[in-house]
This record gives sequence, structure tokens and C-alpha cells, in this order.
Amino acid sequence: MRTPVIAGNWKLFKNLSETRELLQELAPRVAGVSGVEIIVAPVFTALTTAVQAAMGTTIRVAAQDCFWEEEGAFTGEVAPGLLKDAGCSHVIIGHSERRQYFGETDATVNRKIKAACAAGLTVLFCVGETLAEREAGTTFTVIETQLRTGLAGVTAADLQRLIIAYEPVWAIGTGKTASNEQAQEVHARIRTLLVSLYDQAAADALRILYGGSVKPENIRGLMGQQDIDGALVGGASLKADSFAAIVRFQ
Ligand code: PEP
Repeated sequence: MRTPVIAGNWKLFKNLSETRELLQELAPRVAGVSGVEIIVAPVFTALTTAVQAAMGTTIRVAAQDCFWEEEGAFTGEVAPGLLKDAGCSHVIIGHSERRQYFGETDATVNRKIKAACAAGLTVLFCVGETLAEREAGTTFTVIETQLRTGLAGVTAADLQRLIIAYEPVWAIGTGKTASNEQAQEVHARIRTLLVSLYDQAAADALRILYGGSVKPENIRGLMGQQDIDGALVGGASLKADSFAAIVRFQ
């Protein structure tokens, strides 16, 4: 009942011609796939190129971040409305690399989520624990704080513009994937928390993606879990063959 989402985070890779090339390779490989939402997230400078290259396909384009103000003296920032104007339908917010290297906090993530929803973008809201937090047994406490703060003031209507991505930091770019059971356990707890923050129907409708070294070899097992509704894919989204194989998990 929840349409699966497979999203590729291209991080700081692919210039304009590489963006065009990757989308030209990807489009025929995913043509005819139905019942799966396909998203790619190139760098800011390649967004309009990606939007043009994806035209006529079912591939949608996301930005990797945004600011919370629509305009003003904020040198270097990009507003949600500008992303919409550039043809983006989605934006990733709160990726662990932004939290780790660029001072992103739960409070700034919250402001960005609300601004992005208001601009009509669908948000891929990333949460996840570090290895130290998992080993200390605080995985769900950490994720609960990220969710409670990140969603503060996010209305039930806004929630319809939201997709959550559970990305254990220790699994991102490391080749270590959470086991199907480890991922399912956290996804189920996220959904239970959403019931208490919103209601059962809203929690049931919300897609929760898993991210962290997803590959063609492990996608099927992950997607077999009850509360895993798709994947946010980094490294394996940079090659058309591997990303298409993930999209074609069924
Ligand atoms: C990511 O960047 O969100 C990610 C999950 O990366 P990778 O698939 O490379 O671990």
C-alpha cells in the first residue's frame, strides 16, 4: 500500500556532462518500471541539467540540501522556492554528512523541513545513529530526538510531503549494511513514534527508506521487511547498472 521509493544521492560527484550521461544511461534501464518512485539527487549546479535530462521519464530530481529562508542576505545559500523553480520535486534534509561536516543540527533541520514543505517540495528527512551511539545502546534515543526535534511544528498535512530515511552513520559509504533485522527494528520503532506524534493512519502512510551501503545484492532482503519502504542509495547510485538493478528489486 506504500509506494516504494528508490533515491540516489550523488553527493559531490558528476559534472554537467556526467549528469546528462548517467541519466541517459539510467532512463532506458528503468523504463517500464511501475509502482516505484525513482529519484536522483545531483549537485546544485547540475539540477537543471538533470531536470532536462529526466524529462519524459519517471525519474524525479532532488536537491541535497536547502536553506530555510526564501531570500535575503544569506550568501551561498539556496532557497527551497529556487529548487522548486529549477524543477526539483524533492530535497534531502539532515543527511549525516551535513550534520557531521557542516554543523547541521536538529534545530536547523527542523527549520529547513518546514520551509521545504511550505515551498511544495517533498522532503527526504535523514536520521541515524553513529557507531558509538549504537554501541552505547542509545540508537533509538538518538533517533527519537532527531525525529521529535526535526518534526516539531510539522503538521499532519506537511507530513504528507515527508519521507524519512533511516541511515545508520556507520553504514554510510563503509560497505557495512545494517542487517535486515537491525534495519526493520529501527523502522518499526520510527513508525510507532510517528503514531504517537501524529496518528496511526499518518504513520501507516509514511514511507521510511533505509540507507547505508545499499547494493543490488542486499536490496531484496531489505525490501522484504515490513517497515522498509525503499532505499536512499549513495555509492551504488553513481552507476546506471547498479542503480537500475536496485530500482528493479521486485
Ligand atoms: C548516502 O549517501 O545516503 C548513502 C547511504 O551512501 P552509501 O549508499 O554509499 O552508503
